[in-house]
Amino acid sequence: MSSKDWIEKDYYAALGVEKSASSDEIKKSYRKLARESHPDHNPGDPKAEERFKAVSEAYAVLGDEKKRREYDEMRSLFGSGAFRRNARGAGQPGGMPFDVSDLFGGAGGSEARFGGGGLGDLFSSIFTGGGAGGAARPRGPARGRDVETEVALDFPDAVRGVTLPLTLRAPGVCETCHGNGAKPGTQPVACPVCHGAGVTTRNQGSFSFSEPCRNCQGVGTVVEEKCPECHGTGGVTKTRTLNVRFPAGVADGQRIRLAGRGEPGERGGPAGDLFVHVKVRPDELFGRTGDDLTLTVPITFAEAVLGTDLRVPTLDGTVTLRVPPGTPSGRVLRARGKGVVRRDGRSGDLLVTLDVVVPATLSDEARAALETFAAQTPPAAREHLDARVRRFS
Ligand SMILES: [Zn+2]
Ligand SMILES: [Zn+2]
Repeated sequence: MSSKDWIEKDYYAALGVEKSASSDEIKKSYRKLARESHPDHNPGDPKAEERFKAVSEAYAVLGDEKKRREYDEMRSLFGSGAFRRNARGAGQPGGMPFDVSDLFGGAGGSEARFGGGGLGDLFSSIFTGGGAGGAARPRGPARGRDVETEVALDFPDAVRGVTLPLTLRAPGVCETCHGNGAKPGTQPVACPVCHGAGVTTRNQGSFSFSEPCRNCQGVGTVVEEKCPECHGTGGVTKTRTLNVRFPAGVADGQRIRLAGRGEPGERGGPAGDLFVHVKVRPDELFGRTGDDLTLTVPITFAEAVLGTDLRVPTLDGTVTLRVPPGTPSGRVLRARGKGVVRRDGRSGDLLVTLDVVVPATLSDEARAALETFAAQTPPAAREHLDARVRRFS
């Protein structure tokens, strides 16, 4: 008797009792049906014999408290064909009282390879509830993994955009053995333990269950002479170089996704994505606020008072800015269009902050001139503060 029978056969129906029937009711019904269909009472009647077998089989399970419980559990788990998550057995395939190969058929077939979208997927779907609602996710070649990497860009490159070669190290298929791990000229042979099935079946009481073959790790084959390149693993670390375009204006901390540039999928599956984390090295002159570049320019007191034309650098050249007479320290001048080129083709601005610098030392002539200046200048507007100061004096 296999567990597949358990899922397919309704033993309650076979005994003509309700699912809630007591053990006495089951026993009574069984005796009656067994008597009626017994071959001794129906010589040469194959249908009766069939019925007798079915009744006996049903009673062998339902007549045994422990087996009946397990039968009920399995039916509720797999009934109606929808796999539901088994809270008790989650993550413990070894503890499940059924034979996966019975359930899904063809464990020895070519699809039943762990990690290849076959049995392994079903395992994880059933026992960990993987996928939406625990349903088995669609089969098919596995998608390649996403790859993450980090790149440091120079400030001007980030502002203008740049294409850089990016070297990635990732696992790939060994080209010497085409991934089968066998020395060229030899072939992997069927695993002597599982005879190529990739799974072994263990019996425990009236149940059997399958697990990945330990000898071949579920692959079904073993390598006798190892490939010298990959030492039998079938995989090597490969470096590949990609030219990655960083768009103008890419900012520090941004993540760029390059669809399909991650690891290649298994056996023709879709490739994963490449995620590039961008670091931007600070510039010695320019800062950045959104699409605007920033620059601080020191000016003298005289320039602030008298006004001047300032020639300042931009990222790509220079620009002349008019400082009007009487410009206070901290005033921000704007050079339009000299900032970061935006996606829509327009540009941010260059924001120039004027910083009036106070000289720490003066020549005698300068001091004399400044004292003359001070004598000619009205005092600073501090009356509102002086009033408060007088209260305390
Ligand atoms: Zn094996
Ligand atoms: Zn190899």
